[in-house]
Amino acid sequence: MRILILGGTSEASALVKGLAGRPGLDLTLSLAGRTSAPAAAPVPTRVGGFGGAEGLAGYLGAHRVDLLVDATHPFAARISANAAGAAARAGVPILAIRRPAWERRPGDDWREVESVAACIPALGEVPRRVFLTIGRMEIAEFAAAPQHDYVARTIEPVGEALPVPRLTCITARGPYDEAAEGAVLRDAGIEVLVSKNAGGAATYGKIAAARALGLPVVMVRRPAKPDVPSVADAGQAMRAILG
Ligand code: NAP
Repeated sequence: MRILILGGTSEASALVKGLAGRPGLDLTLSLAGRTSAPAAAPVPTRVGGFGGAEGLAGYLGAHRVDLLVDATHPFAARISANAAGAAARAGVPILAIRRPAWERRPGDDWREVESVAACIPALGEVPRRVFLTIGRMEIAEFAAAPQHDYVARTIEPVGEALPVPRLTCITARGPYDEAAEGAVLRDAGIEVLVSKNAGGAATYGKIAAARALGLPVVMVRRPAKPDVPSVADAGQAMRAILG
C-alpha cells in the first residue's frame, strides 16, 4: 500500500515512526518546507507544495497513491482543503488526523478571537508585555501594535518580520512542559500570552502555566477543516491503517 502523509506535525512524525519498515507499506512524508532543518524522518521525504488541489490530485495519480493521510497542523487550512479536494478528484481514500482542540478549564482566563489579526484589538491600547507563540508566518500582524513589549518564540528566527521597538526573540522547538513554561513567563515578566488553539500535549505547558500564574491568554480559534474520515491521534491512525 502506497501512503502519502502530509506532515509538519508531531502526529505525522509519530505515525511515520510507527509505520516505517512495516512490510507491505510504501510511505512518503510530505513537508511544506517552512523549517530549514526538519527532524530527520525514517522514510523518503518530499518537500514543497504540489500546486493546489489539482497538483496534489496529479501527484496521487502519478505515484499511484493508495491512501492519503492528512496529518497537517490544525491551523494549516489550505493544505487540508486541497487534500480533501484532491482525494475526491483522484478517487483516493483519505484519512485525517484531527487533533482535538484545548478546552477551557476552571481558572483559565481566555479571550478567544477568530484570527491572528484579531489579537491586536484584544491586546488593547495599554502597553503590555506579550508572549507570542503563534509561529513566524503571521507575526508581522503585531507590527500594528508597537506599543507593546514582545517576547516571540518561534522555531525559525523572526528576522525582520516584526519591526517593533521592544522585541525579544527566542528560537526553540517543543515540547515544553508546564514548569519550564512557568519559568519563561515569570522570568520574562509576561502579562499576556498569545496562542493558537493548537491542541495536543506538546505545547499545552504554556496554557497550564498561564492558568497557574493567573495570566490572561488571547486564544486564536481554529479555522474550519473539511469533513473527511478522521481520527484523533497517531496511534488511532496506525490502527486504522494496519486494520
Ligand atoms: P497552509 O496554509 O494550509 O498551506 C499553504 C500551502 O503550503 C499549501 O497550499 C501547499 O502548497 C503547501 N503545503 C502545506 N503543507 C504541506 C505539506 N505537508 N506538504 C506539501 N505542501 C504543503 O499551511 P501552513 O499553515 O503554511 O503550514 C505549512 C506546514 O507547516 C503544514 O504542513 C503544517 O502541518 C505545518 N505547521 C503549520 C503550523 C501553523 O500554525 N499553520 C504550525 C505547525 C506546523 P500547494 O497548494 O502548492 O500544494
